[in-house]
Amino acid sequence: MSRTLAILKPDCVRDGNTGKILAHLEREGFEIVALRKMRLSTDQAKAFYEVHRERPFYDSLVEFMTGGPIIPLALEREDAVPHLRRVMGATNPEEAEGGTLRKLYAASIESNAIHGSDSPDNARDELRFFFSRAELIAS
Ligand code: GDP
Repeated sequence: MSRTLAILKPDCVRDGNTGKILAHLEREGFEIVALRKMRLSTDQAKAFYEVHRERPFYDSLVEFMTGGPIIPLALEREDAVPHLRRVMGATNPEEAEGGTLRKLYAASIESNAIHGSDSPDNARDELRFFFSRAELIAS
């Protein structure tokens, strides 16, 4: 068993897709180990996306991610990181395969419904960014 971090992004929450995406993730065999609803501050969003700070879309991404509440999730299953990436689909929904979450629910390359960690090392760091050790102890 392994873990990954997902974030239901502001567009997902605003569009009322939270329940559908949670059900889809459970159908894919993910256990929801921890979950919260929160709004990121600008400093928190900048810190989370620090690796992208030189990219032309960084300021826009930070504005998008602070534009409404998000739902970070700690998810567990076998091969959690690569499996979530497959279930999410490509960053750009126009390039995402049919049946993937981004194909189903994303509007654009930026408003793309869901984040998923891209490596086990990043998953560990990102889980710690949002959740305490106590929250990450599965019941
Ligand atoms: P991910 O791992 O599939 O989420 O993609 P990246 O790590 O490359 O990018 C992080 C997030 O930045 C994406 O999920 C999008 O929300 C946003 N993003 C990525 N590429 C672009 C882009 O070319 N333009 C804009 N506006 N946003 C982007």
